[in-house]
Amino acid sequence: MTEIKLYNSKTRSKSIFSPLDPKNVRMYVCGPTVYDRAHIGNARPVIIFDILFRLLRYKYGERYVNYARNFTDVDDKINASALRTGRTIREITNETIKWFISDMQALGNLEPSYSPRATEYIEQMISMNMELLNKGYAYEAENHLIFEVHKYKNYGSLSGRSIDDMIAGARVEVAPYKKNPMDFILWKPSEANEPGWNSPWGYGRPGWHIECSAMSREIFGSKFDIHGGGLDLAFPHHENEIAQSCSLGSEDEFAQIWMHNEMLQVNGKKMSKSLGNFFSPKDLIDQGISGDSLRLMYLGTHYRKPLDWTENKVEESQKLQKKWENLVSNCEFGVISEKVLNAVADDLNTPLALSEMHKLAKSGNVKDLKASGCFLGLFDNPISHKSETILPDEVQNLITELLNERADARFKKDYAKADKLRDGFVKAGLIISDTENGIDWELGENFDLKKLEALKW
Ligand code: AMP
Ligand code: ZN
Repeated sequence: MTEIKLYNSKTRSKSIFSPLDPKNVRMYVCGPTVYDRAHIGNARPVIIFDILFRLLRYKYGERYVNYARNFTDVDDKINASALRTGRTIREITNETIKWFISDMQALGNLEPSYSPRATEYIEQMISMNMELLNKGYAYEAENHLIFEVHKYKNYGSLSGRSIDDMIAGARVEVAPYKKNPMDFILWKPSEANEPGWNSPWGYGRPGWHIECSAMSREIFGSKFDIHGGGLDLAFPHHENEIAQSCSLGSEDEFAQIWMHNEMLQVNGKKMSKSLGNFFSPKDLIDQGISGDSLRLMYLGTHYRKPLDWTENKVEESQKLQKKWENLVSNCEFGVISEKVLNAVADDLNTPLALSEMHKLAKSGNVKDLKASGCFLGLFDNPISHKSETILPDEVQNLITELLNERADARFKKDYAKADKLRDGFVKAGLIISDTENGIDWELGENFDLKKLEALKW
């Protein structure tokens, strides 16, 4: 296989990828804010970076590639949804995360190695904020902690714009407590009915950007290989992540390569609820369109080009999927085609990879078609192979016991204990949700019995 070449949004050029440590290749991608079911646009970065994850695993070995994608589970949109529906924030975020995992699995995506939730890293965010304050990059004003962009001399390096240009081009929130309109919030105060944590700046919650700087540093260290996300995040989110992380280290700290997918539109228009062109992968799968057909649709457009979603394209993909599925259904696995691999290795050229797949189908090389399709996340859709897990009685009993213990702690108003157990469940991969009929649970992909047992003793 040839070398991997990737386009770096920061240098605006494509170059050969050479990881900092080939035994620990690290990729961080900004994940969803969990207040609503993921829409078809959200699935685009998931599929793109899943293809890259698969490629890196192929080249460097599965155990040497680490991929983290966060869940933003503290955000004003979540608070608004809780207020509107009368549900608790935790109920909303747990449910949305569960949906996200199963919807993305249905599109053939692998689970990342780490799926950190922002609320589990508040301590790290507070200590990073403290470092920024101590080093003179942040100032306090009216119970807020604010990053002062003029203090970081390379602010704007990702988008290549000056601070003044940015002010002119962006809808920035002008607030009386900011020295400069571009200064951004690291910490803000919470009302008693809003989620909050005690901090040196009072009871409050983090600003959005600090979570990715703090979580990537905790999981990967201050330097790692690839940082990805949708193009809409390049400014201000990624610009601000760079300012936070690089202020605390040298300029070459943090991500070495920045990758951004272009946006998905529907019939040439931006997706929006008012236009009625807003839908989720789940809606489409419920209509009988297979996850594989949808995945093929995404792969048909290069990630750095806008993807226009049309019914026509979906129909074409469905036809293609049926044709290929018939061809490979009863055959053995061949080898992954070098041409497919090389296309993907050339800055994720998935349209070229698909045209190589067409050639394999045409020449009757169905074994290699099958192997190459699996490499692209097709044909071996994990959902369709997943059988019900049968748990031994001891595990069932342990789960029941721990859930009872938590219910008991809540009844006795021992919220510290109840929260500790709930956080322990999350870390052990036991997904719980409070329903009208009591507590519902299921095991996540990362379920770890040892971690669950440790909660008991
Ligand atoms: P959000 O939940 O809005 O923070 O978005 C989660 C991820 O989906 C981010 O990487 C966004 O850049 C990406 N995203 C959101 N909308 C679209 C879209 N229409 N097309 C492509 N990517 C999108
Ligand atoms: Zn982020």
